[in-house]
Amino acid sequence: MIVIKTSEMVSFSNDFLGGDYMVMKICRKCGSLIPYPYTYCTKCQNEYNKDREQQLKESKKKYDANYNKYKRNKEHTRFYNSDEWKLLKEKYLQDQQYRCEKCEELHKKDPKHKRRVAVEVHHIKWLSTPEGWERRLDYTNLMALCHAHHDEMHGRFQKKKKRSI
Ligand SMILES: [Zn+2]
Ligand SMILES: [Zn+2]
Ligand SMILES: [Zn+2]
Repeated sequence: MIVIKTSEMVSFSNDFLGGDYMVMKICRKCGSLIPYPYTYCTKCQNEYNKDREQQLKESKKKYDANYNKYKRNKEHTRFYNSDEWKLLKEKYLQDQQYRCEKCEELHKKDPKHKRRVAVEVHHIKWLSTPEGWERRLDYTNLMALCHAHHDEMHGRFQKKKKRSI
């Protein structure tokens, strides 16, 4: 902390020092001399405020994105656990005679291709897209698939990984 004698600046009387003094300090950023209670000079303070504003904006964006993702996951879980979906899924699998539609397609082209049992019902327009969510109970947006083909549809090639539908 620096104490300088001043006549024209805002000052306080200091009996101990004997006279009008102003307590000065150094701007934390650029090192220029500033009146005591402040941390930054005007220029640096403006920059600091701008940075801070930007930071807040970004953290809010991140928070919103996380919150939306969280909300969506919750919505999806609720949907997959709903009776509506369970019934529709069962009905769809039955209608496909529990045959993977992708395997059937490949089997038609090459009779050597194995026809695997369908265990999952896939949304052609993914549930995670706005259209997929709109059409979550739309019969024409569904596809009966075996595990392997369902993974392939979602670009999940690793085996023994936790999967979502
Ligand atoms: Zn400064
Ligand atoms: Zn298949
Ligand atoms: Zn799927």
